[in-house]
Amino acid sequence: MQNIVIKTNPNDNVAIVASPTGLKRGAIVLNGIVLEEDIPMGHKVSLQTLNEGDAVIRYGQNIGFANKIIEKGSWVNESNISMPQAPNLADISYVQPKVPQVESLKDFTFQGFKNADGSVGTKNVLGITTSVQCVAGITSFIENKIRKELLPLYPNVDDVVAFNHSYGCGIAIDAPAAIIPIRTIKHIAQNPNFGGEIMIIGLGCEKLRPERLLPDTRNQLLVTGGLVSKQSDSDNQFSSNQLPINQSTNNQSSILYLQDERFEGFYEMVDGIMEMAERHLQKLNQRKRETCSAADLVVGMQCGGSDAFSGLTGNPVSGFAADLIVKAGGTVFFSEVTEVRDAIHLLVPRCETEEVAQKLKDEMAWYDNYLNQGKADRSANTTPGNKGGGLSNIVEKALGSVVKSGSSPIVDVISPGEKIRKKGLNFVATPASDFVCGTLQLAAGMNMHVFITGRGTPYGLNMVPVVKVSSNTKLANRWHDLIDFDAGPVAFGQKTIEEMGWELFHLILEIASGEKKVATDKLGLYNDLVLFNPGPLT
Ligand code: CA
Repeated sequence: MQNIVIKTNPNDNVAIVASPTGLKRGAIVLNGIVLEEDIPMGHKVSLQTLNEGDAVIRYGQNIGFANKIIEKGSWVNESNISMPQAPNLADISYVQPKVPQVESLKDFTFQGFKNADGSVGTKNVLGITTSVQCVAGITSFIENKIRKELLPLYPNVDDVVAFNHSYGCGIAIDAPAAIIPIRTIKHIAQNPNFGGEIMIIGLGCEKLRPERLLPDTRNQLLVTGGLVSKQSDSDNQFSSNQLPINQSTNNQSSILYLQDERFEGFYEMVDGIMEMAERHLQKLNQRKRETCSAADLVVGMQCGGSDAFSGLTGNPVSGFAADLIVKAGGTVFFSEVTEVRDAIHLLVPRCETEEVAQKLKDEMAWYDNYLNQGKADRSANTTPGNKGGGLSNIVEKALGSVVKSGSSPIVDVISPGEKIRKKGLNFVATPASDFVCGTLQLAAGMNMHVFITGRGTPYGLNMVPVVKVSSNTKLANRWHDLIDFDAGPVAFGQKTIEEMGWELFHLILEIASGEKKVATDKLGLYNDLVLFNPGPLT
């Protein structure tokens, strides 16, 4: 296993040091190339002498230019290469791809919870939605109380989750960008794992009217407490400055206001919320797992704490599994705009229609502008950990990141906070920030999360299982109780991408069925959800 370096593409002029301890000066690799200096694991060695200005090629693509002479056998890193410009969106033209003949996969199933709207849950969770941060102390209190006192009475319900967030008041709610956090909260309440049981706790005087968080077809039926109730479903039609006519809360409604005048003091509010929770728990408790097609999977793919192995092992293996899910008729998301921006020329040709391709480019342009307003660009993405793991810049990171999308056609592009409309491979536009991306993928409707990491993160979500895939065995061994799947054997040829892709696919089905638990569910390690709010505060 010594002196192994890996080329990702035959045209590459750099290779990745795979040896877990790195390689020392004088080590001989490939065709007799002698290392000029010590190079750590995951970092790049130059396979030829590069003159100043020469392109550095990895994944068969230009990841940068040598900013001085780099001798053959030298360490190539962010200090001796400069970053190329991002591909110009206007230069990327679209040609309708030939639809490949793909054999569909049948007969793969899992045990899931079927919902009335056709979606399928992988967990059975009572979700408590909040319309404003003011109520968070009380909803956290209630969450604990329900877990201790009510969940033992409803054995088919897995958990209770209060979605506390920083939004709801002190915001410019009519600013165009406000639509993103608002529809995100609304759509998370509709996540398949909540079984359509929507329970919203509001304060009463907040700008974000809780009625706005009800599903479109239900907001006239369920708000019966005399509050503004005749609202159309269109997100933009709701005027934010309408005040409630009468803040009473009807027992049959899905909304409870803490300012409801029937409550005298804290404990009456608690009793009111507990009664409301019981009504929903009774319904959730009737849910039973039944056999569902793999076509009902909605798998969100994400990277975090990536290293140079991510693009060699974890992401190709996840990409292979993604293709299997799509072939089975299921849905896969990939996201993280700053991690696809530099690979956009490879993604546009994969869009199913010109309209989808344009939408993809529009999301890139929106994000370029968003970063620009903050006087930043996509290079702000890479972390010290990414660089320590051998990723020299965002171009190299992006080229490795998009591999997790597999090779299926991109059928649709979903803006931040929107819900998916089509099965198949979707690009769900999100920031790359792990917790923000996860939050937006939940809103889009994911019922299973695959998270690939090279440096390691304890990231977990309580609403959906998070399958953590390590890109290297060194991490999987050290974090033996935090990693669910080690894609590291691919680096040394011990297993193929195809073999491991199938293994991951089967693991996803077992976890979706509740037969196996992911590490973060065993340990109860959960991150907060974090809304993407590009709009102004007041
Ligand atoms: Ca991420």
